[in-house]
Amino acid sequence: MKKRPIVILGAMDVEINYLIDTIGPCQKEEIGMWHFYEGNIDGWPAVVVETLMGSVNAAVPTAFAIRKYDPICLITQGTAGAHHVDIHSRDIVIGETVAQSDFRETGTRPEGGGSDVSKWQYPGSEFLEDGCHVMRTRLRSDPSLVRLAQNVPYKNGHLVTGIIASGDMWNREADVIHEYRQRFGSECEEMESFAVLQVAKAFGVPALAIRIISNNELIPGEEYDRDIGVLGQQYVLDVARAIIEEHKK
Ligand code: SAH
Repeated sequence: MKKRPIVILGAMDVEINYLIDTIGPCQKEEIGMWHFYEGNIDGWPAVVVETLMGSVNAAVPTAFAIRKYDPICLITQGTAGAHHVDIHSRDIVIGETVAQSDFRETGTRPEGGGSDVSKWQYPGSEFLEDGCHVMRTRLRSDPSLVRLAQNVPYKNGHLVTGIIASGDMWNREADVIHEYRQRFGSECEEMESFAVLQVAKAFGVPALAIRIISNNELIPGEEYDRDIGVLGQQYVLDVARAIIEEHKK
């Protein structure tokens, strides 16, 4: 029987280069402006997708990857900004839950009435579930994939399981960071995982969100360092190996 691949998605070069090198030599496929690198992990087919940054860029190739490869699962991974002072650059967050931080609804205010960010509501995105229209702000990674990831050792920092906030903003303002943390209970934020989980849910494909902290704006000396991305990829590769081993059973 043909082996169904594992698909790993990342937005930026520093989030995929190590993976591409490791699963290669790769066959490179293109759909629109998105690149799909087909290789293998210890003989099991694996595809790394360069999504580019942001939710629409993440959603479109996720849908194509699902249709093109019929994957056993998806891993959305890359860098993220920390949401509190107890989590540091190089720590890794396993996103048990991903909260959509940019689908907002304001109340009415008159001209000159200003804006109060704390009053904004986050209704979430629309889903069709058994024919019913529902709004969801929070989506879960597949619980068995989360458990597998939790058992994969990581040497370069702490391994944390928690909530990832996700939306189209690269946010480094302390007050907005505090607002998100309070609202979502999040460990960190990034710009693609909700979109990937949204599409995965729509197609009924198991998915897992994993992020490495590349910046903590609340801690001096932990400014954005894009090179941290490679450490996340190394861990993700170990997680992928664990998933493949489990799938073989
Ligand atoms: N243009 C810079 C920084 C990009 S950061 C560069 O090319 O290096 C934005 C990307 O990194 C997004 O894909 C997002 O998922 C992730 N990210 C890292 N830190 C983030 C933060 N503090 N807020 C939002 N996204 C962050």
